[in-house]
Amino acid sequence: MVICLGIESTAHTFSVGILKNKEILADARKTFTTLTGGMIPIEVQKHHYECKDEVLVQALEQSKINLEEIDFIAYSASPGLATSLKVGCEFAKELSEKWNKPLVAVNHIIGHLEEGKFFTEAKDPVFVFVSGANTQIIAHEGGKYRVFGEALSIAVGNLFDKFARELDIGFPGGPRIEQLALNGSYVQLPYVVKGMDVEFSGILTKCKQLYKKGISKENLCFSLQETAYSMLVEVTERALAHCNKNEVLVIGGVAASKRFCSMLEIMCKERDAKFYACPMKYSGDNGIQIAIAGMKMFKVKQGLVSNLVADFDPSLRVDKIETKWI
Ligand code: ATP
Repeated sequence: MVICLGIESTAHTFSVGILKNKEILADARKTFTTLTGGMIPIEVQKHHYECKDEVLVQALEQSKINLEEIDFIAYSASPGLATSLKVGCEFAKELSEKWNKPLVAVNHIIGHLEEGKFFTEAKDPVFVFVSGANTQIIAHEGGKYRVFGEALSIAVGNLFDKFARELDIGFPGGPRIEQLALNGSYVQLPYVVKGMDVEFSGILTKCKQLYKKGISKENLCFSLQETAYSMLVEVTERALAHCNKNEVLVIGGVAASKRFCSMLEIMCKERDAKFYACPMKYSGDNGIQIAIAGMKMFKVKQGLVSNLVADFDPSLRVDKIETKWI
């Protein structure tokens, strides 16, 4: 029996998850939100500093265990906002030192990928990783998770959050845009796919211009979603063919979009591939994903780091990491 305490702190969410082998004992989270404006790194950092102890206490209460019973601590060490990563890293080091527990540094993207497999029956899928900070089409090849396509400038979630900020409908933008889109109809927007990569910044500029010209929020939200999701479905289909895989697994906060999931599902049906989505509850950032990946790494002694030198890296890419556990 192995018990892992996972700490997630790469962006807006501070979370502690506790995993006992494959059983979830606790999942405590606090997410920074705002009704106006966007995600200001220093405000998010303040939020994390203020809630970290409370989140830990909540997790321990849920799990009904104490810190002594934990075998090791896993923390999200990359990639993300430096200001947010710092809080989780410091907290993990502090707990590791105080309770004399081994520390495992986990790449947050690996957390999302392994969590997707943990909660579905997908074995070796093409991952569609769509979140606030990331948009990547990933598959496992040659001992690493490889990125086959990605957003060249802003991620799809960030596209929604930025446009929501323009419309002054608050953060996070995705769910609010999805609601407004229900009553919209199509206006033409730039559709930019370059090989396997997608580019969303031109769409954002065009949407802002059209909004200033008086096109309705509803029509713009609908068109923004349809265009961005169509681009992503196109590259996902190509990745399936290229990698010769027959499963698609969507992960990350944007996986909560019903419209996107239904578009991917239609494409999968047409190609005789299986479609999986990470359950909504676990599609956003959470400590369980860090514990799931940490558990796999710990078993093959990967990522172990002394609390004296443990650090974080805001830009470490997933394709730089060897996956010894696969
Ligand atoms: P990362 O996980 O890569 O560090 P992140 O922490 O910003 O990035 P997540 O928590 O995984 O991202 O996802 C948040 C994003 O998901 C936000 O950009 C939000 O707008 C988007 N999102 C949430 N719900 C929906 C939805 N229903 N439709 C579209 N987008 C959504």
